[in-house]
Amino acid sequence: MTRKREDHPTRYHLITLGCPKNQVDSEGMEMLLQQAAMTSTETPEEADVLIVNTCGFLGAAKEESIGVLQELAQGKRSGQLLIAAGCMAQRDGEQVLAQVPGVDGLLGTRRWMEIVELVRTLRGGQGKRQFQRYSLLGDPEEPFQAPVPRPQVVSGSAYLKISDGCNAPCAFCTIPSFKGKLRSRPLEAVVDEAVALVDAGAKELVIVAQDTTDYGRDWGQPDSLPRLLNAICQRTDDRLRWVRLMYAYPGHVSDALIQVMAEQPKIVPYLDMPLQHGDPRTLRRMRRPSNLDMVHDHIRKLRAAMPDITLRTTFIVGYPGETEAEFQGLLDFVQAIQFDKVGAFPFSPEPGTPAAALPDQVPEEVKAERYARLMEIQQPISLARNQAQVGRVLDVLVEGEGAIQGSGEPLLLGRSYRDAPEVDGLVLIPGFAGIPVGEMIQVHVTGAMEYDLVGEPLLERTFSSRTLELK
Ligand code: SF4
Repeated sequence: MTRKREDHPTRYHLITLGCPKNQVDSEGMEMLLQQAAMTSTETPEEADVLIVNTCGFLGAAKEESIGVLQELAQGKRSGQLLIAAGCMAQRDGEQVLAQVPGVDGLLGTRRWMEIVELVRTLRGGQGKRQFQRYSLLGDPEEPFQAPVPRPQVVSGSAYLKISDGCNAPCAFCTIPSFKGKLRSRPLEAVVDEAVALVDAGAKELVIVAQDTTDYGRDWGQPDSLPRLLNAICQRTDDRLRWVRLMYAYPGHVSDALIQVMAEQPKIVPYLDMPLQHGDPRTLRRMRRPSNLDMVHDHIRKLRAAMPDITLRTTFIVGYPGETEAEFQGLLDFVQAIQFDKVGAFPFSPEPGTPAAALPDQVPEEVKAERYARLMEIQQPISLARNQAQVGRVLDVLVEGEGAIQGSGEPLLLGRSYRDAPEVDGLVLIPGFAGIPVGEMIQVHVTGAMEYDLVGEPLLERTFSSRTLELK
């Protein structure tokens, strides 16, 4: 007997690519799909609807998005639907359709909340091929009123997205062209979501946006982030241990922000401030703040207010016109600041951006060589900054466990306040296992590597699954 579609609720399989901001949108989509009685599946094969929340930021990310869509399209069985959502669908919808004819629907970045409507429309038209393109751009003037997603807490940690879009004019970036100008979520809605996430088990909230430090500017109240952070800290109870701030913009790191970071114990002394370069000439061509004295001033104030602060940044190497002298300027800057953590990317020209049209594009082999030299300079700095942690006792959020290669000895894995999820390192605890994921334990740091720390736990209680003893 053929099973009729109505016999079971619609089953979806959602794949998220790209950054934490995309992940938050996916969580919102999941909430709406599940509220509409749709269920998620472990594998694409079991699903009625395949959804890919794509990334369109850089060339490699776009290729990955197309690759995943093509693979799913090839494996599609009769009646199965494929939806491309997110940045690449928004930005290059035509390209997606040309390269993946099996796509049945496109959904724009600010319209993820229409996912249920799109699925129902496509399901309703089953049997006849019915392509749907849902509100790709939306109205740039309308307020950013996303429904509060069902809390999604992974290993005791959750992302909290406070705004969408960006007002900055960075010459290499396409995000404002498809995400639009900054739209801040209402403060009360963000705080309500923070409370719900803590109720759902979040011990850590990771604050994300394109530029978190521009929060509120669209309401005529720039520098509203300190007010938001204060409200989050006050409205949540002690179950919330860490509030972590990502994606600060140089020039928007105000004294008020530094003060609230230093005064609120829940806000971890950690800041990710992507600077993109360390030479004023390159920064000017990037259309980024080029006043390095201001950056030094921010960092001096941050370190004075929070001596234990961990500073993370990212750089682009091989930007068009980057001379050897400019690159050396970046290396000198990196030496001078001594960041704890540095991420780097070789420049990738994005079609339609001013940077892609600049003269003097840097050859790929020069980019690769500069990337390697930057990392060579940074690695001993990261190692020294990690070694300075040896002897400290740090709170560590348990993320999972594994085994040491060769010996098979158990290995507990976690993060301290010095590590953001997914981008930074780990605290490795050899010889231990059985502590539930999402628990926060104290760890005595006994060793350091370039990216990770090593430690042993100071255990005060017995966890149910196994009795753990100090070594
Ligand atoms: S601040 Fe970030 S998101 Fe905004 S334009 Fe610059 S690179 Fe793009």
